[in-house]
Parts: sequence; C-alpha cells; structure tokens
Amino acid sequence: MPRCNVCYRHCEIREGETGFCGVRGVKNAGNGDPHNSSVCRDELTVYPINYGKITSIALDPIEKKPLSRFMPGSRILSVGSYGCNLRCPFCQNYEISWSDEAYEYGRESRYLSPEDLAELALEYKREGNVGVAFTYNEPLIGYEYVRDTAKLVHENGMVNVLVSNGMASQEVLQELIPYIDAMNIDLKGFTDNYYRDILGGDRQMVMEFIAEAVKHCHIELTTLIIPGENDSAEEIKELSHWISELTDAAGNGIGQDVPLHISRFFPRFHMTDRDATDVDLVYELADVARKNLNYVYTGNC
Ligand code: SF4
Repeated sequence: MPRCNVCYRHCEIREGETGFCGVRGVKNAGNGDPHNSSVCRDELTVYPINYGKITSIALDPIEKKPLSRFMPGSRILSVGSYGCNLRCPFCQNYEISWSDEAYEYGRESRYLSPEDLAELALEYKREGNVGVAFTYNEPLIGYEYVRDTAKLVHENGMVNVLVSNGMASQEVLQELIPYIDAMNIDLKGFTDNYYRDILGGDRQMVMEFIAEAVKHCHIELTTLIIPGENDSAEEIKELSHWISELTDAAGNGIGQDVPLHISRFFPRFHMTDRDATDVDLVYELADVARKNLNYVYTGNC
C-alpha cells in the first residue's frame, strides 16, 4: 500500500481513501487516472487531492501573516485550501483545516491553476501586492501546489510566503526552499506531551523543520499561549533559548534575531473550557523571551 512521507504519521493510503489529513490520496503514476482498473497497486503514487482547490483568498497586510520584519507595509495575496495534519482543538480556521473536503463545513472551493494564481498575484500588484502567501489551512500537506505556483510567482519577480505548522519532512522542505522567501512557522509549545496529546503532532519534526528552514530564508515564529498548557515562564524560557541558538548555513549564530510572536488565545471551537489568556501574562512571557531574543512581538492583546 502506498505510504505518504510528508509528515511523521507516514499514513498508508488505500485507493479511494486519504491519509489522516484528508488531503493526500493515491493515483496512478502513469496516467493520473485513479479509476484505471488495469493498474497494478505498485504504480500508485501519493498526491494531494486538494491541488489548486482554493477555499479562501484575500489581499492581506503582510503583518497579518504575521511577518513583522519582511517587507513591512506591503500587502500579499493570501490563499488557502483545506486540510491539516494537526488537530489543534482551538483552531481558528477549523472550517477548512479540519475538513477532509472543502464543503464539509459549508465552504466551497474553486480551482485556480498555478498559472491562474500567479497571474492573479501579478494583477494585484497595482494594489500593493508583493506576491503570494500560502496560508489558512496547512500548505505543506499540499506542497506540490505551493511548489508549482511559487515557481511561477518567482518568474514574475514576486515573492512567496509560507505560513505553516512546520510539521513536514526535510524532503518536503527541500522541494520548496528554492521558491520560498519568508515563512511564519508555529512553534506551538516546547514539550513533547503538548504536541502529542493536545495537538496530535510531533515536536521533534517541527524543530528540525525550523532549524533547517532558517538556513535558507527569512523565518518568523509564532507561539499561541494556551492557559494551563504552555503558559509557564520556564517553557517560554526554554523555547526562546532554543531559538536563540539557531544557525545559518555557514554555522553562524542567527537565532537571536529570529522574530518570535507570542499570541493570546481566545476560547473557540473544541476548546471553550477556559478563559482567554490573561493579557498581562502574555506581556510577562514576552519579556521572558526577550532575555534570549531581540525581536519579540505580542499578538491579539
Ligand atoms: S501529510 Fe497527511 S497523509 Fe501524509 S503522512 Fe501526514 S497526515 Fe498522513
């Protein structure tokens, strides 16, 4: 049975089904027709069934990604599809990220080919657009669309931004690195338990993704502070210390200059059993992080 190697789950996927994320299915590698009955199973290959299916599109200020130190003051055409390989119970975009088909939560998708999207980005240039941001749902589970589109966006002299949970393999990262100019990656907490038990993720894979990505393009990180889960000063101290030790491709220390966004949680979706994060606590934790990092921002306060 074909196995997906995009993330740590390594889902085995049957014909007509998808992996955990609801996005990666299988098709025949030869002719692309998953219904071809003459095809033997060995020829099946894993692909993203959400390729080009856009559920959300908006021309956003780049600070909203959030990116505070990459082309400040500009706007970026932001697009999302559906599906995610995490299951954060407080997800703001659950209508699309927890859906295995875009319409499940009442959102319909429209198809935009890589050529269509690159062209649209160019059209919006006169309104201050600088490129395309792949965001809203998890773009890495459909990385082929990101890669194919980002290549064309670069050819048009525009930039590409990835907003991601960073939970993907090094192979996926290497496919995208030539075309991505900036990323905001979630580093959602700094314990394995939190990633595994609350989010359904793998902290180690995210850390390896960040450590490699920072060697190749502009990186900013985001930590959402959830009361009772990842809100201790000790955890933010460890998290910010780890960031501060990141290096560039030549081994030079650049971690202290990696921006960190510390954000306030609001109860929503499946996590309504607690109050919003205390604003003072967000400021206190930002101060803790500032002992290790030069650029710490607070969000949603
Ligand atoms: S990307 Fe999706 S299908 Fe692939 S291993 Fe991860 S959850 Fe499974």
